[in-house]
Amino acid sequence: MTTTRFAPSPTGRLHVGNIRTALHNWMLAKKAGGQFILRIDDTDAERSREDYVDAIRADLAWLGLDWDREERQSARLDRYEAAFAALRAAGRIYPCYESAQELEVKRKIALGRGLPPIYDRASLKLTEADRAAKEAEGIAPHWRFLLDHAEPIQWEDGIRGTQKFDAAQLSDPVIRRADGTWLYMMPSAVDDIDIGITQVLRGEDHVSNTAVQIQIFTALFAAGFAAAESAAKTLPTFAHEALLVGREGKLSKRLGSLGCDAFRERGIEPEAIIALLARLGTSQPVEPIADRNLLISSFDLAHFGRAPAKFDEEDLERLNAAIVHQLPFAAVQHRLPGGMDEAGWHAIRPNLAHVGEAESWWTLVTGPIVQPDFSSEDKAFLAEAAALLAWGDNPWGALTNALKEATGRKGKPLFLPLRQALTGMDHGPDMGELLPLIGEAEARARLAQAAR
Ligand code: GLU
Repeated sequence: MTTTRFAPSPTGRLHVGNIRTALHNWMLAKKAGGQFILRIDDTDAERSREDYVDAIRADLAWLGLDWDREERQSARLDRYEAAFAALRAAGRIYPCYESAQELEVKRKIALGRGLPPIYDRASLKLTEADRAAKEAEGIAPHWRFLLDHAEPIQWEDGIRGTQKFDAAQLSDPVIRRADGTWLYMMPSAVDDIDIGITQVLRGEDHVSNTAVQIQIFTALFAAGFAAAESAAKTLPTFAHEALLVGREGKLSKRLGSLGCDAFRERGIEPEAIIALLARLGTSQPVEPIADRNLLISSFDLAHFGRAPAKFDEEDLERLNAAIVHQLPFAAVQHRLPGGMDEAGWHAIRPNLAHVGEAESWWTLVTGPIVQPDFSSEDKAFLAEAAALLAWGDNPWGALTNALKEATGRKGKPLFLPLRQALTGMDHGPDMGELLPLIGEAEARARLAQAAR
């Protein structure tokens, strides 16, 4: 069974970039009839906040990205302890004593010599006595995972194709701090095994993490760590999507802060965000598709390109309008002004860029409206309209036909004064749909008023 996950750190609100990753993982799971897991990466107790966890859940719910199960890293510390013990027993973890400053100096020296700043494994060379001396000085060790330089790292990336890394070109990652807390690298691999994740899809900023994690997975499997029945027994597949950039093609600060709150405030529908993010950066056209099943069935990692995906807020606005024009009454009913029924929604919907604008358009029906000053000619014409108004199946069609006949007017001189008298506006919803909603008595009153 396909199992994917979205693993946000609750250190802030979701932004378009992580919404996109969440969506793609959700679609992979839905398409395969599998499971989508929400994993809260909250090992960093200082920066993680419960209100962000709530906000992440609320945002996903608003977007309609339902998850089958939630896991929290802070509730799984015993598993990390067990994995740590297993890897340590296998000789794949070693204590390190360098201070942050020492490491920084090493880094600068390497860079100064034109070398990649790879950790030199100085702590690995310490003897038992050296380590005892450090600890006697009160230096608590932090811990690194020992990469196997002899083990080639390679995977078939679902988006990037064959990826190869030389472990010797990577630093042994710090997996645990001196205070015992966990860094991202190992817990993520432990979770992916325990939860039985089959496919990892994330941003390309994680490509080198994947190289390291592949060795962590392999070492954990070799240490017999995947004990539970439901646990993964093989590596998941990996895919890394190109990052999202702003219209100008740069990683923009704005994108990093653009999230569901801002979208909601601006009247953007979740379906517009979904339709855009589902296909941005793929070879498939971005279209106002409100049917998620269609997006899901056409979703395929093979369509993804390696160029950064450009997020354009104007595209989102355009998609939003096109999506609003498709929304059925039942989906928006609770957000419409009181009294606005299905016929009202259908009449007004084509004029909206955002559902919230329905309110002001609806006042054309409910009134009061403000009519312009009419010329005496138009007044006479509108008086005639009031006299000819007959209420039937299609009052607008009947009225305009009768007026055409009686006055010889056609086109704009025929339609515009009528629209202005009946709605107070020069443009707006289809009058054929609107007039029955205004109703006979009110229509008569408005025409009479205009003719005065
Ligand atoms: N918490 C990590 C992040 O937000 C998860 C990365 C992953 O998908 O493994 O970057």
